[in-house]
Amino acid sequence: LPITKAIQDVLQQLGIKELNPAYSTGLQWAEGEGRTTRTILSPADGNKIAAVSMATPEDYEKVVTTAAAAFKVWRKVPAPKRGEIVRQIGDKLRQHKEALGKLVSYEMGKILQEGLGEVQEMIDICDFAVGLSRQLHGYTMHSERPEHRMYEQYHPLGIVGVISAFNFPVAVWSWNAMLAAVCGDVTIWKPSEKTPLTAIACQHIIRDVLTENELPEGIFNVIIGDAEIGSLMAHDTRVPLVSATGSTRMGKKVGEAVGARLGKSLLELGGNNAIIITENANIEMALMAVVFGAVGTCGQRCTSTRRLIIHENVYEQVKERLTKIYPGLPIGHPLDATTLVGPLIDKEAVTTFLGALEKVQAEGGKLIIGGEVLSGAKYQTGTYVTPAIVEAENHYEMVQEETFAPILYLLKYSGDVENAIELQNGVKQGLSSSIFSTNLLETEAFLTHWGSDCGIANVNIGTSGAEIGGAFGGEKDTGGGRESGSDAWRIYMRRQTNTINYGRELPLAQGITFKI
Ligand code: NAD
Repeated sequence: LPITKAIQDVLQQLGIKELNPAYSTGLQWAEGEGRTTRTILSPADGNKIAAVSMATPEDYEKVVTTAAAAFKVWRKVPAPKRGEIVRQIGDKLRQHKEALGKLVSYEMGKILQEGLGEVQEMIDICDFAVGLSRQLHGYTMHSERPEHRMYEQYHPLGIVGVISAFNFPVAVWSWNAMLAAVCGDVTIWKPSEKTPLTAIACQHIIRDVLTENELPEGIFNVIIGDAEIGSLMAHDTRVPLVSATGSTRMGKKVGEAVGARLGKSLLELGGNNAIIITENANIEMALMAVVFGAVGTCGQRCTSTRRLIIHENVYEQVKERLTKIYPGLPIGHPLDATTLVGPLIDKEAVTTFLGALEKVQAEGGKLIIGGEVLSGAKYQTGTYVTPAIVEAENHYEMVQEETFAPILYLLKYSGDVENAIELQNGVKQGLSSSIFSTNLLETEAFLTHWGSDCGIANVNIGTSGAEIGGAFGGEKDTGGGRESGSDAWRIYMRRQTNTINYGRELPLAQGITFKI
């Protein structure tokens, strides 16, 4: 099938042509002569969208040098003025929301509503960053010494490396890049090699803002590449902070490399998120959250609901309702407004999905619905699957793993909520968690320090779909990083304590006497 006119219009509006770009330092693009070409196919219909060039280590070197020079200029721009640039970027994103949302949907495979939601997150973080640009404040403290003043300030850090995953191809960049920008940093973004076009589109969108404000090359950089470029960034002492989003496997490598040179890393890695449904839950409300969490983005969100921990008294009821709802879920092209479940990113993901189902059944799991690869005219790509539900036990190896696909494990618990919390916490990952209950004793227990051990703990809300205002991230194998709202901005700055003596004596701290 030829690529549709609608998508061609989107590509044109977003400035994506057949130019095979490899990197951009903001205004200019380096085209791909002599580099390896990568063709980007849509998981929705298998059509070629465009091609990109894989940047080389020499390209990386040029980008870092340009970024380092730009930092010297950008850090001197007052923070509220940096905020003004971000405000203009937010406006441009508003203008292009529909087109960019469509491209996110078409390149990544999430349904259009989620594609638009992702762009809305970018707009929201721009607004947040604008406000923040006047609030990058530290504390003032009272000095123990007379006629002394003590306070702390936050200074720009330098180059921030951003490595992003395919499933949130643009939002995660904006969470990092917009905060980093108001903090006075410059960013080098290495998007997922599976979804580089949306990154190129973002760079085109913000280029006008950079040009209109006569800003130099190097403040916002994007480099197209795979793990090799990511690894260069992780090892590079010129990059004081590397923010990496992706699998735990990748995070361990990046964290190790950055740690070995005593750099800072912000790791946003895999989740194995659970919803607890107690016998006091509003079941219908819980089901809405479970289905959105389990099949949304075809189970490819870091916060996707993977485990459902259900009280034995309502277990059969929940299972029965889910097995009625699942067959009615419209699976199809993500740009079709009636679709609720789009495709997996590629055939490799389908193989992983099938392999996980096979393994969990070998361990004793019972597949009760789904788990098929769809075929026929609508599903020629081989990337469409029916979301699966499996009755399982928490200790199964596959239940302990994050399989990045729509598999929901049903786990039964009995007794009180602490038993459910123990199951919820009984995995290596610690990203998102939630409880459905109308009983205050249960919900409060879930939120105590002996409750959920995750970075996100929700009550009567599912595991996926966070707002940008809170700090986002998780514990344990999820990496411990926090980005987006609250005070997540602090990691993008270096902290300095200043003590000023405005007297004529030089008293020492702790009352030490030292006379010469
Ligand atoms: P991935 O780990 O395969 O790749 C992520 C990024 O890391 C890509 O840009 C890739 O090129 C790069 N990369 C891979 N190996 C690297 C290395 N050794 N050094 C440097 N860079 C390297 O992940 P994916 O398949 O794109 O995304 C899915 C994973 O991301 C899931 O585990 C999901 O839970 C996780 N994720 C986490 C969050 C979060 O905020 N916690 C958000 C989105 C996705």
